[in-house]
Amino acid sequence: MDYVATIGLECHAQLRTRSKMFCGCPVDNDAPPNAVVCPICLGHPGTLPRLNGAAVVLGVRAGLALGCAVNTESVFSRKHYFYPDLPKGYQISQYDRPLCTGGRLHVELGGERRSFELIRIHLEEDAGRMHHTAGGSGVDWNRGGVPLIEIVGAPDLHSPEEAEAWLRALHRVLVTAGLCTGDMEKGHFRCDANVSVAPVGGPPGTRVEIKNVNSFRFVARALRFEIDRQTAVLQAGGKVDQETRTWTGRGTATLRKKEGAADYRYFPEPDLPALRLTDAERAEALAALPGVPMDLYLLDQDARIRAEFQARTGLGDYEVGVLLGDPQVTAFFEGCLAAGGEPRAMANLVMGELMRCANQHDGGLAAAAVRPEQLKQLDDLVRDGRIPRQALRGLLEEMFRSGADPARLAEERGLTVVSDTGALEAAVDAVIAGNPGEVERYRAGNKKLMGFFVGQAMKVLGGKADARALQQRVLAALEGS
Ligand code: ZN
Ligand code: MN
Repeated sequence: MDYVATIGLECHAQLRTRSKMFCGCPVDNDAPPNAVVCPICLGHPGTLPRLNGAAVVLGVRAGLALGCAVNTESVFSRKHYFYPDLPKGYQISQYDRPLCTGGRLHVELGGERRSFELIRIHLEEDAGRMHHTAGGSGVDWNRGGVPLIEIVGAPDLHSPEEAEAWLRALHRVLVTAGLCTGDMEKGHFRCDANVSVAPVGGPPGTRVEIKNVNSFRFVARALRFEIDRQTAVLQAGGKVDQETRTWTGRGTATLRKKEGAADYRYFPEPDLPALRLTDAERAEALAALPGVPMDLYLLDQDARIRAEFQARTGLGDYEVGVLLGDPQVTAFFEGCLAAGGEPRAMANLVMGELMRCANQHDGGLAAAAVRPEQLKQLDDLVRDGRIPRQALRGLLEEMFRSGADPARLAEERGLTVVSDTGALEAAVDAVIAGNPGEVERYRAGNKKLMGFFVGQAMKVLGGKADARALQQRVLAALEGS
């Protein structure tokens, strides 16, 4: 039987505000534990939340950037659960009346532009975090009350590749729109994935949620693992449990059985009035965006950059894709062109030998000591016949490590080709004088002996002569007299 996977992604993005969502505490991701807390974000009795307008404007900006309907009126709700990271016993979030509804995310996959539906974007506060050590567990409430948006995508993704592309596209929009740092290691952009597997044409499968995967690649790997796991369960005639799982680095493992939405006992937050958006706030959010929807704006910008690059360099689609695919590679290549390098030769060197060196170093291209103009000089040395082509790889490896000057390095290693006319002439004369019999036979018509003379002269020069120049000298010496 054939199975199909259905994937829906939900992301939490930390908004770049100076202070928290409902109090004046600064947002400080590096402060010592519990240094940035106050009675409001700790939920002491008698305190009241006050909404941070900057967070609202950033939330609106996200909605406009993603083509959502930004609702003039939205409502905060309490979402209850009991856990030490939540001192109030509830999280202020939005439930049935979120800030933004609908929207689409456009993604480029395999050279094709696709679009996926978004369900909503809502505002909410973050919870604190637990630190588990051998000595026991501690709680740090610094993150409690930090403003977030939650972006909920429709479950219309069907492969780990689509999910990864979706996530990268969303991340790019939020970061370029300036509303989130996007730092996944610090948890500023976090993703939960819902995935189910069902027979093609059959009823939907049971959803499993994978929590807080902190890299694009891990999301794809966790989904691939989970799809294979669920498919195997179904193929064996079993039933997939509805549960929350976590990515362990090698597979997914059960975290807990899933709470239903009703368990959160949502109700409207009585301490906050409905959020009514002003025209000024909407205009402020829009003014910060270079184009809307932002995902399409960025894809169009990519296409323009590609076309300009292609016209300027004359390179093919594949080379353009590789050279523009990584900003560091792009910068290096552009540096080579700025130094006067020929685009195709530079593209071949950058994509070939330079990337080979980069892949052998932990730091990758960022760790390269070689500068773009040095790569261009190295290319010149080979093209001018001043060093043999076979020497290029070894020289570049050393240059990558040390940033050595290519001409001096070739000299030091004795790789510089002899093209000095006097030296060539002397070698050729010596070979002709030393082999009168061969000269006789050559002049009698055995032209094949040409190779013999060149080989002998090359030996005299220690194998470091420019082969073409040497051949010309031999020919002139034999035919000229
Ligand atoms: Zn506070
Ligand atoms: Mn949430």
